Amino acid sequence: MIVKELTVPLKLQAVQCLEKRMLSTHPQYPHILNDLAKRRAGYYGERTLCYYFRQLPSTSYLFHNLRLEQHDSTFEMDVLILFPTFALLIETKNIVGEIHFDSQFGQLIRTWNDKKEAFPDPIAQVRRHQSLLGDWLLQQLGFTVPVEYLIVVSNSSTIISTDPGKSYLFKQVIHANKLPLRLRELETKYRNTIIDTAYLKKLSRKLMKEHTEDEYDVLKKYQIQEDELIKGVRCPTCHFYNMQRRKGRWLCLNCGKSDRLAHLEALHDYWLLVSPIITNSKCRDFLQIDSPFVASRLLKSLNLAESGTLKGKRYHFSKKMMLIQEKR
Ligand SMILES: [Zn+2]
Repeated sequence: MIVKELTVPLKLQAVQCLEKRMLSTHPQYPHILNDLAKRRAGYYGERTLCYYFRQLPSTSYLFHNLRLEQHDSTFEMDVLILFPTFALLIETKNIVGEIHFDSQFGQLIRTWNDKKEAFPDPIAQVRRHQSLLGDWLLQQLGFTVPVEYLIVVSNSSTIISTDPGKSYLFKQVIHANKLPLRLRELETKYRNTIIDTAYLKKLSRKLMKEHTEDEYDVLKKYQIQEDELIKGVRCPTCHFYNMQRRKGRWLCLNCGKSDRLAHLEALHDYWLLVSPIITNSKCRDFLQIDSPFVASRLLKSLNLAESGTLKGKRYHFSKKMMLIQEKR
């Protein structure tokens, strides 16, 4: 059973928005593009595994991108699967080329197009998660649950290697198509039920309750000032930021197309990039409109929570805003 579905991570959405609203001449632009490619690859890599997860037994409980706190530190697991007999952590890697697990220096080295690039060691990361999750489960249940882990390389053409004498790592680092086989091996290894169905359900609810979304200040991360962002409403057809509000619609001065709801994307960008709270004047500035009445009407139409009165009125974005934008 999939308890927590895979969704486009907030960090990926934020970097996507940032890329759209930056001039390609900005010194940080290549860095943003590079990070965006990595985040997209990570997300698509995890998505390709969903095919195998559909074949899991109905007694298992699966969570994508669960973020928990233990011993005052937070950890986010790509995939957690709870079986009645053990728990399994899966860290996905979607990296093209040849990847080498350097056990001596605890690094992952990727060679691609004759270039070498170092990535953080996913084995060290998942072992940390294994230990924290083990402690979290012990605290909840009062007994130890075996926690296994796998690093799944989603791209079947990626060549995986490690240092001589370390080939045992290949039990833990596998290509996606080996996942069903490894799962069967683990199910054979752990035969004794330690958490019954009723308790697994209860534990799942607890896990969902304890999950917290990561706060992500994307402008701070890339040291970009708010006024460096491209302002205005983007045309859904030609993608130019050159739309003007005319008679209740947005008209593109570049291609001539009009749209009734083009401001939704801009407000969604504001929320992800700048702040979860917006005022009338901030809205006018970001959407590049003059009329406080139009700004007020647009903000009111979103049915956001409000605080303050008159000129100090603040509108609070919520998850609902994200859904409105996703439907577009
Ligand atoms: Zn246009």
